Amino acid sequence: MASGRTFLTIDLGGTKLALGVVDEDAVVLRRAVSPTVTADAAGCLADLMARVGEMLATGPEVAAIGIGTASMVDFSAGRIVESTNLPLRDVPLRDLVQERFGLPAVVDNDATVACLGEHRFGVGRGAGEMLMLTLGTGIGGGIICNGRPYRGFSGAAAELGHMIIDVHGPRCSGTCPASGCLESFCSGHAIGAAAVAEARAKPDSALGRALAGGEAVDGPLLTRLAHGGDGDALALYARIGTLLGVGIANLVNIFNPELVVVGGSVAAAGDALLEPARRQVVRQALRPQRDEVRIEPAHLGEDAGLVGAAALCLVELPS
Ligand SMILES: [Zn+2]
Repeated sequence: MASGRTFLTIDLGGTKLALGVVDEDAVVLRRAVSPTVTADAAGCLADLMARVGEMLATGPEVAAIGIGTASMVDFSAGRIVESTNLPLRDVPLRDLVQERFGLPAVVDNDATVACLGEHRFGVGRGAGEMLMLTLGTGIGGGIICNGRPYRGFSGAAAELGHMIIDVHGPRCSGTCPASGCLESFCSGHAIGAAAVAEARAKPDSALGRALAGGEAVDGPLLTRLAHGGDGDALALYARIGTLLGVGIANLVNIFNPELVVVGGSVAAAGDALLEPARRQVVRQALRPQRDEVRIEPAHLGEDAGLVGAAALCLVELPS
């Protein structure tokens, strides 16, 4: 049975729209997943509103609506400022949802939402100072400072993936004007490209044979090979994990966190990625913070977005 309040939670991604009803203990009571409508803003919003209406009409009563979206969000205004993979720009999503359904609503960037979820319900429970890197197609970030999300002056903070770790590195993606960002080396997209380059350079390797055989050479394949003990795959993850460690060492020096959580689809690589990162932090970060920090994989799995949006409601809409 649900305890306390329940929330309608939304994970609005570039390819997938997930809706759920989640209780205060992070139990997902209902869920519905559909492809995101990305043709234009009107279609995307109309589809979202229709699905929320459906779930409200048929589901248990909810106290509020929590939304995580793959967008830059002005948190205090509840407004989507910009999106890379969604057709949403300058959309006052919080107010639109509140007016339409007569319920309190809260909207934030999906990486911050994932961070709040891990902090409240996952590996970060009880941590006062925590950072999270979400390694998916790109890299998202979240900062918990003194037990609370840190959002910066206008809600745009925690773009940890755009920390520059090599000024001579490749151009970053999307609207980022920089080169050599952490995202350019350690995102799912970057890892897939590195795996293809490795496959081309070593046609006799397992990666090379997969490429020649028409298999998809990407992060998931690299992870399967690494977990099976393939030396080339492990060496590639060691290189990528070392660069991830450079980024984390910077964060450790700046924030002195007790915990850095690594989540997102790339985190499935586990210790093949995280052990080289931990070693690099020990080599590069300062004392005492390098000795104190723990670097751990995220605990919340597929429902991280839905559960995180419930944590967002609990943090921002106290009863
Ligand atoms: Zn960048």
